[in-house]
Amino acid sequence: GDPSSVMKIVDKINPNALIIGFARRFATYKRAHLLFTDLERLSKIVNNEQFPVQFVFSGKAHPADAAGQGLIKRIMEISRMPEFLGKIIFLEDYNMIVAKRLVSGVDIWLNTPTRPLEASGTSGEKAEMNGVLNFSVLDGWWYEGYRFAEDAGWALTDKRTYTDQGQQDKLDAATIYSMLENEIVPLYYAKNSKGYSPEWVQYIKRSIAKIAPHFTMTRMINDYIDRFYLKEADRTKRLSADNYAKAKEIAAWKEKVAAAWDGIKVFDIETSDVANSTTGTDYTVRAIVDTNGLGKDLGLELVVYKSMDGEDKFHYTKPFDVIKEEGNVLTYQLNAKLKDAGVFRYGYRLYPVNPALPHRMDFAYTRWI
Ligand SMILES: *Cc1c(COP(=O)(O)O)cnc(C)c1O
Repeated sequence: GDPSSVMKIVDKINPNALIIGFARRFATYKRAHLLFTDLERLSKIVNNEQFPVQFVFSGKAHPADAAGQGLIKRIMEISRMPEFLGKIIFLEDYNMIVAKRLVSGVDIWLNTPTRPLEASGTSGEKAEMNGVLNFSVLDGWWYEGYRFAEDAGWALTDKRTYTDQGQQDKLDAATIYSMLENEIVPLYYAKNSKGYSPEWVQYIKRSIAKIAPHFTMTRMINDYIDRFYLKEADRTKRLSADNYAKAKEIAAWKEKVAAAWDGIKVFDIETSDVANSTTGTDYTVRAIVDTNGLGKDLGLELVVYKSMDGEDKFHYTKPFDVIKEEGNVLTYQLNAKLKDAGVFRYGYRLYPVNPALPHRMDFAYTRWI
């Protein structure tokens, strides 16, 4: 900008104010506009003479994301309104250098994504390492992080109250204003004779001690090593021993299953009448299947979906037992209880069984019956 307007902003900046940072890609799901839902209320918060608050925004939108660019334009306009000059600051050209200064230099890191679209919100983790307190929707990393300690940051609930996004945005904005006014700003300004808020410092200490250690690179690498790399190394050793004997065995088994698959025949499936039964009712399902030579390498399971809010959500699966084997013909049986109340959709599916598979999806043949 031109020097005179830059000076006007610099003059208004108060180094002692509570500084809240918001910087990230301007993808619309991140809702950078949320804070600006009620400008009058926001103006009262930033212009409070006794307890001033400043916001620093930064971020870029994807070149093809016109809506994201529109948000930046809107925030620039607001930052130039007289009542927001030096109170809402937009830093252009967000990059790693700007990000580094922000995640270590502000008091609070704000993130307001649309639930449940935030994958992580990495910048919040970076802020956490630097003693910056997080104030975010319970989504992405904060969904986990927030639970590690009480009074070490602030959260907007992960629950959606409205299906209509416009109404949800209004509610979330009102919650942000109210938490700033009633909790966060008073805590920051509860200063002692030495000029700082001891309780605020306690928040920072708890957040560094109890939350930050769960989000370090060491923790992540250890997770990868324990959960994946060691298991993977062990499996590789087993598969490649004796000139890849196990790998060859699994490949041959897969070919056998693939060749037999289309010849599998379901003779009969009978089930006790469960429609309109009450919770706790026992029921039995029996199926007779010609496995076409696969025998017990063919499994059968019940798949249950629960209908909630007009949507069918995956509930659970339950495998059948093989109770009889006559040549190629297997009789499968499932004894179960209606576990809980509600409306359900269910089906049965055949699948190849082999404990040597790392995961069912490694050989995802399925036949619904
Ligand atoms: C950390 C960082 C990001 C990612 O931040 P999110 O919170 O995950 O959106 C993007 N850009 C820069 C420059 C960063 O430093």
